[in-house]
Amino acid sequence: MERNFTEICRDLGLSPSITRKQIYEYLLKSKNHPTVDEIYKNLIDDLPTLSKTTVYNVINLFSQHGLIETINTSNNEKRYEIAEHAHSHFICKYCGAIYDVPKLTISYDKNMMPGFVIDKEEVNLVGICPNCMKKIK
Ligand SMILES: [Zn+2]
Ligand SMILES: [Zn+2]
Repeated sequence: MERNFTEICRDLGLSPSITRKQIYEYLLKSKNHPTVDEIYKNLIDDLPTLSKTTVYNVINLFSQHGLIETINTSNNEKRYEIAEHAHSHFICKYCGAIYDVPKLTISYDKNMMPGFVIDKEEVNLVGICPNCMKKIK
């Protein structure tokens, strides 16, 4: 069974504030890898006292605790999603949409990069999504 937000917070020693819960649940249900701006715009009606700074702070907190993944897009935009299952991303260079694709792996020779410590291997595919392809044709 999926753990609820209160249980997740208890495990991490965080207090499950209503703002944190709303942001977590929004990320859980949104499949489009939202930016901080999008999270803010979607929650401001329910949480009138919400500020963008609060969204940033909650996102950073979730990130530090490994609850969410950050996706860096080619135009330096940070997008977020709940870290549920390992997968890679296809990023459309026209509309910027991000699609989940099966986890991709890369093989490379670590000996080629002496002195570098690798924290994370991240493989994204960049190209044209089916929707944009239809418009181009
Ligand atoms: Zn597209
Ligand atoms: Zn994803």
